[in-house]
Amino acid sequence: MTEKETNYADLQDKIKKCRQCRLCELGATQAVPGEGSYSAEVMFIGEAPGRDEDAQGRPFVGAAGKFLTQMFELAGYRREDVFITNVVKHRPPQNRDPMPDEIEKCWPFLEAQVKLIKPKLIVLLGRHSMGRFLPGLKISEVHGKAKRAKGIWGEKQVYFPVYHPAAALYNPGLRDVLIADMKKIPVLLKKINNK
Ligand code: URA
Repeated sequence: MTEKETNYADLQDKIKKCRQCRLCELGATQAVPGEGSYSAEVMFIGEAPGRDEDAQGRPFVGAAGKFLTQMFELAGYRREDVFITNVVKHRPPQNRDPMPDEIEKCWPFLEAQVKLIKPKLIVLLGRHSMGRFLPGLKISEVHGKAKRAKGIWGEKQVYFPVYHPAAALYNPGLRDVLIADMKKIPVLLKKINNK
């Protein structure tokens, strides 16, 4: 195993063993650390696992996840090419929003994942994920626009906020907007790589 592989496996293991917040006592059955390539150039960060994710221990495998996977394909990626995770690694009860203290307790794991993977681009799926990295912005105003801001592993990081795939499933008007935004990702990555 390379050092990166060992560090990745250790981190996944630590996340799986975590019991630091109340979500484990509120019905979450297992942690969902995230999956994909730890050498990915693009990292997707959602909100928190839902019922299907909790059952399978994998991120974005329910209805929203199926839609997300289709959009990866439209953008020219496979799930295995990118890294997918969430701000919170355990499922909140009845899919309620994660609470600020739950997000803060889980934050060191996300930070460690970003530091290890060193993505060129972080796609923020929905307003909760965006709120943690780019506070004070409105998703309706900034979706599909790249933002350079303070990074976790570098001076500056490129973030790309988009609507959450679940929001697009409930609101068909957002579906085409999200698809169009996702299709911008390869173009944006090319620009970042040519800088
Ligand atoms: N919604 C999320 O934000 N994350 C998942 O993993 C699944 C649904």
